Amino acid sequence: VRLTRADLDALPNYVPGRSPADLARELGLPEAIKLASNEVPYGPLPGVVEAVAEAVAGVHRYPDMGVVALRQALAERYGVDVDRVATGCGSVALAEHLVRATCLPGDELVYSWRSFEAYPIIAATSGATSVQVPNDAGHGHDLAAMAAAVTDRTRMILVCNPNNPTGTAVRRAELDRFLDAVPDDVLVVIDEAYREFVTDPEVPDGLDYADRPNVAVLRTLSKAWGLAGLRIGFLVAQPQVAAAVRKVVTPFSTSMAAQAGALAALAQADEVRRRCALVVAERERVGEALTKLVPGVPASQANFVWLPLGDRAVEFGKACESRGVIVRPFPGDGVRVTIGTPTENDAFLAAAEAALS
Ligand code: PMP
Repeated sequence: VRLTRADLDALPNYVPGRSPADLARELGLPEAIKLASNEVPYGPLPGVVEAVAEAVAGVHRYPDMGVVALRQALAERYGVDVDRVATGCGSVALAEHLVRATCLPGDELVYSWRSFEAYPIIAATSGATSVQVPNDAGHGHDLAAMAAAVTDRTRMILVCNPNNPTGTAVRRAELDRFLDAVPDDVLVVIDEAYREFVTDPEVPDGLDYADRPNVAVLRTLSKAWGLAGLRIGFLVAQPQVAAAVRKVVTPFSTSMAAQAGALAALAQADEVRRRCALVVAERERVGEALTKLVPGVPASQANFVWLPLGDRAVEFGKACESRGVIVRPFPGDGVRVTIGTPTENDAFLAAAEAALS
């Protein structure tokens, strides 16, 4: 076959990171520690595995394409009408659907950089033009510059809050100013994959803005809700935006297992809060230890920390791997480290100290 899209050659792959099993085998260890994908380390929530097992007894049938029960549960939990909710195969798929629903080839998609690595891939494969606005000196979004980057061709802006991979978060006053400055016909997507880990009261809940005509909020059940393997995310937006997303969605892409697992997880909100508090306490402990090793570590509002190691990022990642800890280097820029259990974090801190001293 002759693939005609030469532009794909220039695209980076979405890197899932090293397999812990492979690394453990290579090092002759019983297991390796994976702190590379921002998962929460405490296993599936109570009741999830059972609910999924029950649901998959019927896998010879298609799932509910309307995702009615789950969308209703989400609408109730987040206090919005059900016609404003759409689900997808992870929030990354929903981000892609939003681009497909808003951008024609050549239309511009604005986002800060560095941010979530899927954004440039989504833009390129959807025919949209990426407009990347450099992060500010503190590794956070420069919202004023992002608003200034809007042109007649801009159809969508992604605001990743907290930002992956730097963990920084925009504050309410900045976001207010930004939304007031952006024209109404540009869709602002607030990607809140890490919302549940936010502790700074000045960092606004994107859902507080979801009544604005041009705001959509993306959430995932992969992180705090512990369902990364089921692939389920959702968005809250104006009904016509949610309807447009439901039009471009791959049919049946919210699987039976994902619908059942998500419903069971949503019944465990107290346990999710408890787990997030553990993660946040560890984030603060790990963050404090790291600031003594690396200058300029930004305060994180997510379940990971960012080490701005520049050219030393890859070398640091290799040094951690040699000690059985998989982290996430971004070559030439920095390293993102997911918060794990206290034992995992101690192993990482020991590796970091050895690597940097
Ligand atoms: N948005 C951000 C900012 C993320 O970091 C991620 C996961 N890495 C996602 C969206 C996608 O998550 P999922 O597709 O698992 O819902």
